[in-house]
Amino acid sequence: MKLRLLRGDLVCVQAVELVTDYLEGALPRRERERFEAHLRACDGCDEYLRQVEATIRALGTVRPEDLEPETREGLLELYRQFRGD
Ligand SMILES: [Zn+2]
Repeated sequence: MKLRLLRGDLVCVQAVELVTDYLEGALPRRERERFEAHLRACDGCDEYLRQVEATIRALGTVRPEDLEPETREGLLELYRQFRGD
């Protein structure tokens, strides 16, 4: 049985939501611009975004546990950088 209430998991869910909101065009414009600025500056996150997009296409939705551990880590890094300033 999975532990679902670890703090790290909450952040992971938020990271996935951030990316899915972005992909669905649901992020407010200012946040979207900030997000895109980071993606342009960071090849790693650009790649993670593509992986999430591919997962959504394949499954119709995406949850943190659907992602490869490396992709999850990359998203968490992206989320921390996005929220960090
Ligand atoms: Zn990045």
